[in-house]
Amino acid sequence: MHHVQQLINGQFVQSNTDEWIDITDPATQEVIAKVPQTTNDEINQAVAAAQTAFETWRKTPITTRARIFLTYQALIREHMDELAEILTAEQGKTIADARGDVFRGLEVVEHAAGIANLQIGDFVENVASGVDTYSIWQPLGVCAGITPFNFPAMIPLWMFPMAIATGNTFILKPSEQDPMVTMRLVELAIEAGVPEGVLNVVHGGKATVDAICDHPDIKAVSFVGSTNVGKHVYERASQSGKRAQCMMGAKNHGVILPDANKEQTLNQLAGAAFGAAGQRCMALSVVVLVGAAGEWIDEIKAKAESLVVSAGKNDKDLGPLISPAAKARVEHLIGTGVEEGASLLLDGRGITVEGFENGNFVGPTIFDNVTSDMQIYKEEIFGPVLCIMRADSLDEAIALLNANPHGNGTAIFTQSGAAAHKFQQDIQVGQIGINLPIPVPLPMFSFSGSRGSKLGDLGPYGKQAVQFYTQTKTVTARWFDDEASRGVNTTISI
Ligand code: NAD
Repeated sequence: MHHVQQLINGQFVQSNTDEWIDITDPATQEVIAKVPQTTNDEINQAVAAAQTAFETWRKTPITTRARIFLTYQALIREHMDELAEILTAEQGKTIADARGDVFRGLEVVEHAAGIANLQIGDFVENVASGVDTYSIWQPLGVCAGITPFNFPAMIPLWMFPMAIATGNTFILKPSEQDPMVTMRLVELAIEAGVPEGVLNVVHGGKATVDAICDHPDIKAVSFVGSTNVGKHVYERASQSGKRAQCMMGAKNHGVILPDANKEQTLNQLAGAAFGAAGQRCMALSVVVLVGAAGEWIDEIKAKAESLVVSAGKNDKDLGPLISPAAKARVEHLIGTGVEEGASLLLDGRGITVEGFENGNFVGPTIFDNVTSDMQIYKEEIFGPVLCIMRADSLDEAIALLNANPHGNGTAIFTQSGAAAHKFQQDIQVGQIGINLPIPVPLPMFSFSGSRGSKLGDLGPYGKQAVQFYTQTKTVTARWFDDEASRGVNTTISI
């Protein structure tokens, strides 16, 4: 049995804990490895190593730091197939989707390799006679990242490359449900030249997360996961004086106007609602059909029925959910939708997949006539379940979306520039797609979920991550070019 290791001070070490968590293949329930609940002593060792390493790392030339990420991106590319296979085995998504998961993280690594262009301060000459002011962006110290199960490659790569490139040292706590691809990425980071103590990994669940939030030597915490846990992390980390950012749950709506390109729109909707078995924070889990688009129901159902559910390694359309508990929860919510009076057009409960009879499979599921008071609308289902709603006008659709507390992502499908512009201007959601269903920005921007989907001002990668992981220092300097005394001045001036 493989026991997942920790990384402490440059060494991959087995935990001394007696508490081990099973990692299972979601398509079979086979236990494929065990991950430790890292002990408090081990967490303290990891933070101490990161604290020591920070003293050297923060003064390491920015170009030296950047070059590590040039090597790292090449190593990730070289190991893409292996990484995707590990990811699929423990997480369940299709191989093609697993490659996408790694690739979207790789793009952040590429961006981190350009850190010298990003971590540039400001300079103003002669703010007063002979006086210059400039700002420098200095690393904070030991930072930490806590990641969810659904993107075990991309989300860790949102965090530690930018934190380390900006001169911090890092403690990573991967999801205990699928930490193996994260660990392989960490091994490659060490191979690329990340020095000892600069990156450390601890494991476990709530106990580890709480220890990270409380640790006095950790300066900042980046979290991605569910809303309840995110609120807890934000509160607890802030209370102990840390900078915190939490990317949390979602309920993303797609708005379809009747002038949209029908075939393209329906394909994109099906991919975004059911892909990764709906386990994406940017999944389109609600569609609002405006006016005559309300007649497209049969075609939406047909697209969903055309999707094939199978083990991720078979690389069909949808893999299993992460765990039996996740499957039970999604099936329970589908039952709730029926009880609440929504029309169940397609029921994905109880499906079996030949050769994988024990897998956590739920097939594409569609509810029509969903209303905003129903639990299936209010709760993030995080499964392949699409809720259909109607609106008479774009204004009505916008009002519906703005009344929903979440603000992660949304998309509009239309051929009208004017409608798209109105939507972009009036919608209170941080990431908008126009004829594009999952608008996750590339790293030259930042992930910008908003309202109930986020706590903290700054995003986890891109320009905002450089700000998150640095402290601005502003220096005002005068160098006298003569010995003449100007006397004492007691007024506020320079
Ligand atoms: P989760 O909140 O259960 O777990 C996230 C992390 O928190 C894990 O590392 C886990 O070990 C830890 N954790 C779990 N329970 C905890 C507790 N009670 N106290 C302290 N720590 C705890 O989330 P998940 O199920 O792994 O991921 C799915 C969720 O993440 C969904 O809600 C999804 O929308 C969200 N998500 C959001 C984004 C985003 O960018 N907004 C991206 C991906 C996933």
